Amino acid sequence: MNPKAFSSLHLKSPMLKNLASLGYAEMTPIQAHSLPLILAGKDVIARAKTGSGKTAAFGIGLLTRLDGLSFRVQALVLCPTRELADQVGKELRRLARFTDNIKILTICGGVPFGPQLGSLEHGAHVVVGTPGRLLDHLRRGSLDLSSLRTLVLDEADRMLDMGFQDDISALVAATPSKRQTLLFSATYPETIAAMSAAVQREAVEVSVDEVH
Ligand code: ADP
Ligand code: MG
Repeated sequence: MNPKAFSSLHLKSPMLKNLASLGYAEMTPIQAHSLPLILAGKDVIARAKTGSGKTAAFGIGLLTRLDGLSFRVQALVLCPTRELADQVGKELRRLARFTDNIKILTICGGVPFGPQLGSLEHGAHVVVGTPGRLLDHLRRGSLDLSSLRTLVLDEADRMLDMGFQDDISALVAATPSKRQTLLFSATYPETIAAMSAAVQREAVEVSVDEVH
């Protein structure tokens, strides 16, 4: 069997069909290295360049772990900017196309609170957003992370550069300790190692230089 084939993973057939329909013929290198670990429930630090398909690596992982019957926030993806959060939200919706009952919300700063309060009240399985605004919602009681299964720090190096460390720590403190934490980054400075030690358990490192 082709080790880069998505069918070499234990994925449900609607997900496999959807990946084929998206034109994802086989896994990119970072996906091939990280997905088996992610699907096994490990905490993973994945380092790979921009454009290497990191979103689908954590996206397939978190969607596979969702309990569709529980309408609570089960996955949280933290991104450094609104633009990146919007991109991740879009890609997650494409990956979730095989099932129509997965609700994915994007919650970022720089826009009014009101509509976000309404959306969060309606409920969601997955929330993607920027740390500052998400922390505001946590403190107001409009975001409940007590049922979280998967936490993703996307572009973690940029989030740390932008000074989000304390906001991230406060959000992490509101999640169950029994969760999967995935850390994605284009670079791997010392500060990432420290963040990993603070939020992950026995993290497995995966580093890939080629993009496709
Ligand atoms: P990164 O987060 O590493 O910068 P993205 O997740 O944004 O990269 O993915 C880059 C592009 O590659 C996106 O357009 C995405 O749809 C596409 N892509 C992801 N996985 C695959 C795959 N297995 N096959 C083909 N294209 C893919
Ligand atoms: Mg990315």
